[in-house]
Amino acid sequence: MSVSSIYVHWPFCKSKCPYCAFLSTPLRDEQLREVAEQRLINDVKFSVERTNIDTIKTIYFGGGTPSLMSAKTVYEIVNYLLDKYPFADDVEITLEANPATFDKQKILDFKKAGINRLSVGIQSFCDDNLHFLGRCYDAHQAVTAAKIASGVFENFSFDFMYGYQGQTLQDLEHDLQKAVDFGCKHISAYQLMFEENTPFYRKLQKGELVELSEKAEVEQYNFIESFLSAHGIIRYEISNYSIPSFESRHNLAYWRYDDYLGIGAGAHSRITIDGRKHEIINQRDIFAWLKESDSNTVERNQPLTDTEQLEEIIIMGLRLVDGVSIDELKAKIPSELIDKLFTRVPFLKQRGLVLDNDDKIQLTNDGLLKLNSVVEYLCDTLGEK
Ligand code: SF4
Repeated sequence: MSVSSIYVHWPFCKSKCPYCAFLSTPLRDEQLREVAEQRLINDVKFSVERTNIDTIKTIYFGGGTPSLMSAKTVYEIVNYLLDKYPFADDVEITLEANPATFDKQKILDFKKAGINRLSVGIQSFCDDNLHFLGRCYDAHQAVTAAKIASGVFENFSFDFMYGYQGQTLQDLEHDLQKAVDFGCKHISAYQLMFEENTPFYRKLQKGELVELSEKAEVEQYNFIESFLSAHGIIRYEISNYSIPSFESRHNLAYWRYDDYLGIGAGAHSRITIDGRKHEIINQRDIFAWLKESDSNTVERNQPLTDTEQLEEIIIMGLRLVDGVSIDELKAKIPSELIDKLFTRVPFLKQRGLVLDNDDKIQLTNDGLLKLNSVVEYLCDTLGEK
């Protein structure tokens, strides 16, 4: 099977947000940026040479904060790929951007470099909430960034965070209303998680921060869905909403368990080799990755068992409102394993967590709210890997 989605990881940010567990580190100086950009270009060339790529449908520059990269490097990567492979007519090329890292000229340059979708990590338009989250910009800068994004791109997305102390439903409404006013067609709304080894996690342990009650989290989650759907922005994944046809096609490739190539420090790939899906993970140490000039950055490359694949299909696919198609499942996984999984579906249907649909395993709103428990319950029956 050939790969048609490529993820390029830029592992640097302006500063490290106190809740963030992504593989990223503050960018110390200009010289480091130049070295890292050259390293990333080399890694793109090295990685695609070793991958069976047919037509490119999506490219995603993620991070980290890839808007810290120069537009010249983005141009070089996109054009290298364009010279080598056909691009689909509707190719989606996304770049993640942090409001503190760009002005209008830079965004215009990214567009000229081939970017046709911008994903801006706004997180909030409220000063107090940005301050609480430790973001490196204020509400005024967030509004300026939103204006620039909406002025340059038709296809742009805003990320927001919810589910943390001090944030009210009015704050959330203010954030979402502004996004709607800017004509935003895609919104990602992520609940704040206290990830281990982050400053926020340590503060939680010391009692300096508190988690929201489950009731308050559910109230916010449902508020986001009903506010956005009233504006025609429909939930299609547990944390993602869009006007129909503006879904993130790159991320859909992950959730639908298609093959994809991840390039850069710590990036993951799922690639079918000789009929079996392989899990490939790159070197996670950013500075060790930087030092490797053109060598192999893969830290792990192993075939997944049928059970592991089925688990991954369930973990990723049940995030989608559309769920997992049973026909597609049958095309990928031996029927004995699927039958095992199905023994647990009737119980979930009785509990109102899975919809009564014979073609798909599709969660109800309640099921999505209890996603982790549902996935654990289903996968628990699969036993040995
Ligand atoms: S900007 Fe994004 S990737 Fe960078 S530290 Fe903050 S949350 Fe993490």
